[in-house]
Amino acid sequence: MPHEVRAVVAVKKAAPVEEQTIVVPDPGPGEVLVSVQACGVCHTDLHYREGAINDDFPFLLGHEAAGTVEAVGADVSDLVPGDYVVLAWRAPCGACRSCLRGRPWYCFDSRNAAQPMTLLDGTPLSPALGIGAFAEKTLVAAGQAVKVDPAARPEAAGLIGCGVMAGYGAAVNTGRVGRGDTVAVIGCGGVGNAAIAGASLAGARRVIAVDIDEAKLDAATRFGATHTVNSRRTDPVEAVRELTGGFGVDVAIDAVGTPPTYKQAFYMRDHAGVLVQVGVPDPEMKIDLPLIDIFSRGGALKSSWYGDCLPTRDFPILVDQYLTRRLDLGGFVSETITLDQVEEAFGRMHRGEVLRSVVVL
Ligand SMILES: [Zn+2]
Ligand SMILES: [Zn+2]
Repeated sequence: MPHEVRAVVAVKKAAPVEEQTIVVPDPGPGEVLVSVQACGVCHTDLHYREGAINDDFPFLLGHEAAGTVEAVGADVSDLVPGDYVVLAWRAPCGACRSCLRGRPWYCFDSRNAAQPMTLLDGTPLSPALGIGAFAEKTLVAAGQAVKVDPAARPEAAGLIGCGVMAGYGAAVNTGRVGRGDTVAVIGCGGVGNAAIAGASLAGARRVIAVDIDEAKLDAATRFGATHTVNSRRTDPVEAVRELTGGFGVDVAIDAVGTPPTYKQAFYMRDHAGVLVQVGVPDPEMKIDLPLIDIFSRGGALKSSWYGDCLPTRDFPILVDQYLTRRLDLGGFVSETITLDQVEEAFGRMHRGEVLRSVVVL
């Protein structure tokens, strides 16, 4: 029996989102039906609403979610109803050329539910990042539902499903931050602060937070930044050099994703340092750097997709670090809201007033 549930839908480009009743089918082979308990509001949801990702309206928004498995498809053997899960937008296929080479975080054929969720009139919905969790129930591929310790509060645990994992993984998986490293993070929203927390947990000696907003820099200190730089007042490249004996950092993370911040990250590295770009740029942005500087400064220029995470490996680790009070996931939750408040939450996010608003169902 299909389920009629309340959900947040972006009906057309740049229009406010609407709360609607949608139809969620029972799970078929390889699928699970999840009863959503909490789902964070992410910039990507707003990008979908603005038509900046593609034109496949209507979108079912929401993708940073935790909940419980309500039903599983016929052939699903590793999940049972009642399991507590965080939803992932990467579910490696196990068969593509990346998976077969042991690099499933680059999977080319990540799994999603096969059956569509629809509006009441039968119009199929495009779920954000293949999830669609601003809804009382959602349908995902079994591989997208990652079991974690049920002691973790859903409004905190759900954030691991996107922004927190992206930032944490940018530092730990992509940047390979290790004991004794110096690290700078540009942009201290949810993703940047997660990178700061990850770098700190990985044993970085110095973690320098760079932002133009003092409130964000205060938050960065709570997540483990050892130093802060307000780049509205100070040249961040010079400030970072000063804080590192004149050398620059081992790993510079651009959590903004614009040409100026990328250049700052590029030049604030030590000799042969690593740059990690995790902030998502707008499609029309271009970068202009002297090729001789790219060559002569050495090191690595990397992009981090979803923190190069493997959800089944990484989600339970972050949940354990949260439950043992080493990772302050709760600190990312600025407010909890209801489904009908997503549109206002987009405004607060856009103005930089919150790290995360989280819908609680
Ligand atoms: Zn694959
Ligand atoms: Zn997201």
